[in-house]
Order: sequence, then C-alpha cells, then structure tokens
Amino acid sequence: MLPAAQSYVPGLGIATVYRNVKALVQDGWLESVALPGEPPRYEVAGKRHHHHFRCRTCDRVFEIDGCSTNLTQLTPRGFRLEGHEVVLYGLCTVCAKMA
Ligand SMILES: [Zn+2]
Ligand SMILES: [Zn+2]
Repeated sequence: MLPAAQSYVPGLGIATVYRNVKALVQDGWLESVALPGEPPRYEVAGKRHHHHFRCRTCDRVFEIDGCSTNLTQLTPRGFRLEGHEVVLYGLCTVCAKMA
C-alpha cells in the first residue's frame, strides 16, 4: 500500500506526478484504491483479491489478505453480484496499545 505518491518524490511538480501515476494506471502497473472520503491511493496492480483496514488514529491503511464476507447473502433476489468494496475501520496494533 502506497500513501499519496507525492510524498515519495519531493520537489517534483504535482502535475508531473499525476501524469506519471495516470500512465502507470493505464499501463496496468498501478491500481487506484478508493476509500470513502479520502483522496485516491495507489498500489501495485495484479494482487489477489483483498481488502483494506484504515486506522482512524494514524490514518495508515493496511492490506488485509483474503475475504471472508459472504455478500451473496446480502444480494437481493434476482440481482447479480459482480464485485464489492469492503473497508474496515478501527485502530492498528500500535494505536490500540496507546489507546
Ligand atoms: Zn494506527
Ligand atoms: Zn472481498
């Protein structure tokens, strides 16, 4: 999981960063991760299906391997489920210890 790309390339124009990120997304190297109410983040594309956990205290986003939610159960009768977005919120281990 990468935080905002511009934090890794100080001094680089923001427009250049966005152009490069866009090109990487188009080429399939990066995938955008949309978290509600947050600017888009990017991670390396082609990973297995996974989800994210966002720490409300330090704002770090962690990858969670796999998926255990049975969302087919939630899908209304007659609808065809094609995908889902699940974001977990809470405290990471570091913040949970300090809380
Ligand atoms: Zn935290
Ligand atoms: Zn899933």
